[in-house]
Amino acid sequence: MTLIAPAIRPFSDYPVDALMAVAQRPEAVFTRGQGSWLWDSEGRNYLDLVQGWAVNTLGHAPRAIAAALSAQAGRLMQAGPGFFNDRAIELAARLAALSGLERSFITNSGAEANEGAIKLARKFGQVHRGGAHEIITFAHSFHGRTLATMSASGKPGFDALFEPKVQGFPKARLNDLASVEALVTPQTVAVMLEPIQGEAGVIEATPEFLMGLRALCNAHGLLLIFDEVQTGIGRTGGLWGHSAVGVKPDIMTLGKGLGGGVPVGAVLAREAVCCFAPGDQGGTYNGNALVCAAALAVLDAVTAPDFLPQVQARSAQLRAGLDRIAARLGMPPTEGRGLLLALQLPRPDQATQVAEALQQRARRDGTEPGVLVNPVRPQRLRFMPALNITESEVALALAVLNDALS
Ligand SMILES: *Cc1c(COP(=O)(O)O)cnc(C)c1O
Repeated sequence: MTLIAPAIRPFSDYPVDALMAVAQRPEAVFTRGQGSWLWDSEGRNYLDLVQGWAVNTLGHAPRAIAAALSAQAGRLMQAGPGFFNDRAIELAARLAALSGLERSFITNSGAEANEGAIKLARKFGQVHRGGAHEIITFAHSFHGRTLATMSASGKPGFDALFEPKVQGFPKARLNDLASVEALVTPQTVAVMLEPIQGEAGVIEATPEFLMGLRALCNAHGLLLIFDEVQTGIGRTGGLWGHSAVGVKPDIMTLGKGLGGGVPVGAVLAREAVCCFAPGDQGGTYNGNALVCAAALAVLDAVTAPDFLPQVQARSAQLRAGLDRIAARLGMPPTEGRGLLLALQLPRPDQATQVAEALQQRARRDGTEPGVLVNPVRPQRLRFMPALNITESEVALALAVLNDALS
């Protein structure tokens, strides 16, 4: 496959104001990517440890997904939500075999998957729990940007936006079982959380807490919902974020890494929980054959025998390097698991400054690359590289970061 580099075009040439200003974006327009590398329109290149926001499981423009998409595009893209298509059935069956959750509803995004999980829990409450509908969620959690998922989120700053919120999401504190227990009422139907809070800055739910939650849910007949939009599909070094702990959810949501850059998510649930009746839930594009083909290509890659051991090896390498930097700076060790890691910086408000400096190293003649990292919190950098990042790419990222923090 030969890639033709697009012609050099200065940033000022682009009518960027044609896009709504919903994010603070740096002055670069990305035009090409390959593996762990991105190029902008002015010829700079970047080692990308953001990867579409923990999305590009196999890096940029992976051959396996490009081939799956082009083959599927020439065969069948969309039959419509009122019909079966072979790829959706295949994807649902693969997810069931891999997760033990027998059924799925395929979505177009992570938020839509969580929205579906919330609806399924509420329907379960209606059918089996006398109309119980409250879902306990957590401070600093992030579940998406639809109205219901914003309401479920405990992200500071969300409270004031787009009022009034959707009701029924009391907030507990992560790793504080008593704070969950205190919110359980006859109206409670579920507890929903991320095994590792990603947007909060990579904060892990402890194994004891997850086990305690499972027992609490069992005791009260509540559903345990894991939002694995960020932690699923190998990101943490196991197939699921909960794999290492062994606590099983009743409902699990996926997004991000499932499509490896193609928008697709899923709500998975135990058979006994699946109480949607025909007409309750749907969407025009849900489970279209095109995105399902991409997700199947991702699953093929991630379930190959040597894939997760490689993720674990790169994780150990990145963590050891970050730990050395942290120790030198007198900071606590690296947080997170697999290739979802975070480094605490010495100064408050240092993260954006460091991320900008790393990006701005990139030279127009391509002789020095930039490095893209995510300033997830004012004092914290998050690393979420492609799961197939190489040993030398991790070494380069660490060397550049070490320099920038010297
Ligand atoms: C990104 C994310 C979402 C939202 O997914 P979208 O595809 O952006 O809608 C939900 N939950 C978690 C844990 C996420 O990281």
